Amino acid sequence: MHTRVTRAFSFEAAHQLDWHSGACKNLHGHSYRLEVTVAGDLDDNGIVIDFADLSDVVQQTVLDVYDHTYLNDLLPNPTAELIAADIWDRLTSAGMAPARIVLWETTNSWVEISA
Ligand SMILES: [Zn+2]
Repeated sequence: MHTRVTRAFSFEAAHQLDWHSGACKNLHGHSYRLEVTVAGDLDDNGIVIDFADLSDVVQQTVLDVYDHTYLNDLLPNPTAELIAADIWDRLTSAGMAPARIVLWETTNSWVEISA
């Protein structure tokens, strides 16, 4: 049996996409929602990962870096896809092995990366 646990987070950030022919060329912001899923077997305590530990890693490696920032200062082309890829890299560099992350840029647009 393989169990997946997910915790959801949110952060606010601004960006602009210089190459875009539509409204995304203009400076604007999003309330991003991030879901981080870890999968595995249950340990002796009956958990895959402590939700608090999961939260600490995401807070330190992603939210403290991204929240209330201008994303173009962090990434040359901050599309949702490339932001998600950067988040994935930050989590794996911190020693986490996410099974899946989902980054919601709006309430009806999201990017998903799976292991
Ligand atoms: Zn945007």
